[in-house]
Amino acid sequence: MEVIARVAEMQARARQWRREGKQVGFVPTMGYFHQGHLSLIRRAVQENDLAVVSVYVNPTQFGPQEDFHRYPRDLERDIRLAEEEGVHVLFAPSDAEMYPQGYQTYVEVTELTQGLCGARRPGHFRGVATVVAKLFHIVQPTRAYFGEKDYQQLRVVERMVRDLNLEVEIVPMPIVREIDGLAMSSRNVYLSPEERRAATVLYRAWKAAQEWVAQGERDALRLREKVVRFIEAEPLARVDYVEIVDPLTLEPLERLEGEARLMLAAFVGSTRLIDNGPLTAT
Ligand code: AMP
Repeated sequence: MEVIARVAEMQARARQWRREGKQVGFVPTMGYFHQGHLSLIRRAVQENDLAVVSVYVNPTQFGPQEDFHRYPRDLERDIRLAEEEGVHVLFAPSDAEMYPQGYQTYVEVTELTQGLCGARRPGHFRGVATVVAKLFHIVQPTRAYFGEKDYQQLRVVERMVRDLNLEVEIVPMPIVREIDGLAMSSRNVYLSPEERRAATVLYRAWKAAQEWVAQGERDALRLREKVVRFIEAEPLARVDYVEIVDPLTLEPLERLEGEARLMLAAFVGSTRLIDNGPLTAT
C-alpha cells in the first residue's frame, strides 16, 4: 500500500489508472477506523480493480464550537488496518494541501441540508459537499462508498453527484452496530462507561418506534412524541432532534405510509450522537 499526502501525486496516480482503464473504488473517511469504516473498505476492495481510502479530518465541516481539535486521530493504526484489507492507496492530505492560502470555493446543496443535522450544524454540509467534491476530483473514482449511519450526508452527496454531473456511482452501505445496537462511530470513544451504556437509547428508540408502527401507529407527530419521551426517559440523554422523514427528500411526514426514515440525534453527556433507521408501514 502506498501512503500519499500530496494532491498532485494522488492526481497523477488517478490519471495513470484512468489511462489503464482501471475501476477505482473510493472510501472517504475522517479516520480512526472501526468496523463501520472497514465494511465500506472491504466492499471497495472487493468490487473494484483498486481501492483508495482517504483519511482527512475536514476542518470546514466543523462549527467553531465543535470537536475538530479533539476529534480522535491515529493515522499509524489506520494505515495498518487499510493495508491489511488490501487497500492500494491511503490518501492523507494536510490542511495546507486541501485548503491552501486564498482558498474560497464551496459547494452548497441547498434543500436537503435545511433540516436535521443541517439545521443544528450550520455550514456542516457545505463543508462536507465541498471536501467530497474535491476528493472526487482528486481521486477520480468509479464508485464511492458511504454509510447510512450518516443518512443525510448520503442523500446530500447523491444529490451533488447528480447536480454536478460527476461520473461516480454512490454505493450506500448499511449501518454497522455494536452487539448492543449502538451504531459504531469514532466519537463513541468520548463516552464514559456510564454514558456508553446509556448511548444504546437511540437504537432502542428506533426498535420501539418500529414496534409502535407494527401495532398500527400511523400519525407521525404522535410517533415522534413517543420517541422523544422514550429517549428523554434515559437520564443521561437529551434529544437534539427526532424526525420522521421521507427517505429520499428528507421532508418531514405527517402520516406513515410505505417507507419512512426515523432520524435521531441526541446528546449523551456532552457527546452528540446520531442514528437512523427505516420505518415500514404496510
Ligand atoms: P467518518 O470517518 O465518520 O466521516 O465516516 C466515513 C464513512 O464511514 C462515512 O461514509 C460514514 O457514513 C461511514 N460510517 C461511519 N460509521 C459507520 C457505521 N457504523 N456503519 C456504516 N458506515 C459507517
